[in-house]
Amino acid sequence: MNIALVAHDSKKELMIQFCTAYCGILSQNKLCATGTTGRVVSIATGLKITRYLSGSQGGGQQISARIAYNEIDLLLFFRDPLVDRSKEVDDIEMLRLCDMHNIPVATNIATAEVLIHGLERGDLDWRNIVHEKSSF
Ligand code: PGA
Repeated sequence: MNIALVAHDSKKELMIQFCTAYCGILSQNKLCATGTTGRVVSIATGLKITRYLSGSQGGGQQISARIAYNEIDLLLFFRDPLVDRSKEVDDIEMLRLCDMHNIPVATNIATAEVLIHGLERGDLDWRNIVHEKSSF
């Protein structure tokens, strides 16, 4: 599965803790992330992560493009609910595209825990059918 990781600044430490706790299952998947999130998580956990640009330079849009192509199977996006709303446009677009393709998405750690356990249990295996259909 292709898993995308994004964490706002105030949630990066939480993302590190989450990825450390679930390093085993995460390491069995292909990970990508916005620049800074990917850097801090890979340094802390040793996980191999494809890093896009930092969020401020368009990394979220790069991930959104992959979501638009239905290539991302799970988005873990730890949002800061207090972030300046005028800067939320790209974030909302990323979530909109997930809804477009029914891509499981967590915007906080409580949901992320449920989804990661579901992933481990095989609840997201239906995504493999999506991959088969879109490969040509
Ligand atoms: P970052 O981007 O991982 O490069 O900090 C995430 C964000 O948009 O805050």
